[in-house]
Amino acid sequence: MIAIHDMKKAFKKSYVFESVSFTMTKGEILSIVGPSGTGKSTLLKCLAGLEEMSGGSFYIEEKEMTSIPASIRPVVMMFQQPFLFPHMTVLDNVMYGLKFQKRSKKENTAKARSFLAKVNLSDYENFMPYELSGGQQQRVALARALVTSPSLLLLDEPFSSLDNALRQETRDWVKRLLKEQNTTAIFVTHDIEEAMIMGDRVSVFGEGRLQQIGDPSDIYYHPKSTFVAEFYSDGF
Ligand code: ADP
Ligand code: MG
Repeated sequence: MIAIHDMKKAFKKSYVFESVSFTMTKGEILSIVGPSGTGKSTLLKCLAGLEEMSGGSFYIEEKEMTSIPASIRPVVMMFQQPFLFPHMTVLDNVMYGLKFQKRSKKENTAKARSFLAKVNLSDYENFMPYELSGGQQQRVALARALVTSPSLLLLDEPFSSLDNALRQETRDWVKRLLKEQNTTAIFVTHDIEEAMIMGDRVSVFGEGRLQQIGDPSDIYYHPKSTFVAEFYSDGF
């Protein structure tokens, strides 16, 4: 369903990564794990259309994406910070994602409410973002991302600002929700344990390329490069 071939990205002729290729099936969650500064966020921004790729191709259901502007690409990115609109209520924040879809206001409101229920925030629809905790704000951001039924959801270290206990609880229900919606998602983290829990498959990113991609336990027991082996042993 998703096909990325030979993707590369350079800033001023210096390559952040090269020859990144992988495919994903509908509903799959792929974790991308790697040390910080290796280009994970840059890769996601290229897929979201927030950065231009320096080469390669990106297809969703056989449709080429690189010529489609970010605002109308069926790809949604969620960041470490929730980036809610501070002057809009929780409900309006979630509805914002539906603004470009041709449905009546009534239908959009009902849809947004159903997604607020999925993230357990029905009682907060008239709150302003500053009245919510960081974890609750992140849940609003997730509802806003999912309400548009994106073909691809990109999660850039979405739990890193949460404390440990909340983080574990959050990743469990986020995974459940993504599976329930059959959402195809790329989950980026620098935490190997988190990558293995969240991903159906894990890919290890480092030294400017995708080092290895596969089943979480397969990578753990059969690292294909010294980089992967060392990164795994440092992470545990
Ligand atoms: P990660 O998310 O894995 O921590 P990033 O994708 O944020 O890594 O960054 C990868 C590299 O690309 C870093 O060396 C960073 O300085 C560089 N980089 C990211 N964005 C830009 C930019 N807009 N201009 C120049 N260099 C950038
Ligand atoms: Mg990053």
